[in-house]
Amino acid sequence: MGKGKLIVLTGPSGVGKGTLLRSLLQRHPDLYLSVSVTTRRPRPGEVNGKDYYFVSRPEFERMVANGELLEWAEFAGNYYGTPRTPVVDQINQGKWVILEIELQGARQIRQNFPEALRIFILPPSMLELEDRIRKRGQDAEDAISRRLSRAREEIVAANEFDIQIVNDNFDKALERIEETLFATAAC
Ligand code: 5GP
Repeated sequence: MGKGKLIVLTGPSGVGKGTLLRSLLQRHPDLYLSVSVTTRRPRPGEVNGKDYYFVSRPEFERMVANGELLEWAEFAGNYYGTPRTPVVDQINQGKWVILEIELQGARQIRQNFPEALRIFILPPSMLELEDRIRKRGQDAEDAISRRLSRAREEIVAANEFDIQIVNDNFDKALERIEETLFATAAC
């Protein structure tokens, strides 16, 4: 059995991480995507247990207090976190586990799992990012401005990551993610 691995994918809201990840997982079904816990309300079409585990604030706080989360952060007014047990189990079984998380969480992972491979996805420009968030049409105006100001903070930190990939062309960005993952397969 191969060696397990932890992969962190970070990038501002609206950069297209989710779409890139869906294609990556279709092409490499052996990869395991961690399902996060959040206090955010489900968006239309989101499924509990598949997109997220949707929980109340008290439930989230209980999980934090019990040490059930590998990392967690507050983002645009809601809590998000990675359940510890499934990730540890999958890695112990030799799986490659992907966390799609924001910057604060990625920093916690760097502290606790320095061997994790950390990838940052950049938008072609801030204007393009704003356009994508608005076109998605899933967030209210105050949430959009919180997401954009957080995006600026995150982009400044892109060089803390092992690799930065600009999502200006979907196929090329996907190819670069694959190269990054599989070029380090022997590590
Ligand atoms: P959204 O509300 O758009 O689904 O996610 C907002 C942000 O939270 C995204 O940047 C996403 O990557 C991040 N996120 C999702 N799950 C987690 C998690 O478990 N931990 C952390 N730290 N961030 C997460």
